[in-house]
Amino acid sequence: MSTSLMLHCNTVRGYSSCATTLMTDGLDVHEARKIGAAHGWRHTSGKDYCPACSGSRVKPRVIIAVDGEPVAPTAGRADYRLQAASALLLAHTNRATGGLWTPGRSPVTMRNLPGVEFVTGGDHGADCVARTGPSGNAQAAADAAYIALLDPEVGRAVCAVLDETKESVAQEHGLVETSTAQAAVDLADALLRPKGER
Ligand SMILES: [Zn+2]
Repeated sequence: MSTSLMLHCNTVRGYSSCATTLMTDGLDVHEARKIGAAHGWRHTSGKDYCPACSGSRVKPRVIIAVDGEPVAPTAGRADYRLQAASALLLAHTNRATGGLWTPGRSPVTMRNLPGVEFVTGGDHGADCVARTGPSGNAQAAADAAYIALLDPEVGRAVCAVLDETKESVAQEHGLVETSTAQAAVDLADALLRPKGER
C-alpha cells in the first residue's frame, strides 16, 4: 500500500504565504503530522508550520551523549542531596515538552528525507521531543523507546519519591537508615552526576 500526504506551511506574511511543503508517507493526517514533527514541523490550532516559520522552539532536539566528569556524589548530607536532586529534576521536568511521549518511526522511503526514529509529545502529540537516529536502527529505536518511557510524568513521580525520602531522612538528621531511603539517595546521586552542557 502506497500513500502520500503533504503538509503545507500555513504562515502568511502580508500578501505572500510560505510555500514550504513536506511530503510524507503517513497513512493519515495524524501520522503525517507525527512524521512532520520529527522533521521540525509544528502543528498548532489546526494548522501546520514548517521548521523555518516555527522558530527555534520546535527545532528537533538532537540527543548528544556527553561523558561527564566523574565526581564523587557524596558531598553534603543525604537529605540535602535528595532536595537538590528533586529541585534539579523538577526544573528539567517543567521545561520539557508535556503530554504523553510516544516513540515513532518515519519510513525510509520518503523522497529526499532519511527515515528517523523519534519521540513525540505535546498537547496534540505532534511536537518533536527527540530524534535518535536512522529508521530501523535497533539502537536508535531502543533509545527512542527509553526516552518516551521516562516522560515528564515519570519525572514528577520521581520528584515525589525524592521529596518524601528527604522528609524522613531529615527527621533522622541526615542519617540514611532504611534500604528504601538508600535507594532514593542512590537515585538522587545519579541525578546529580554532571551530564555536561544542558
Ligand atoms: Zn513556512
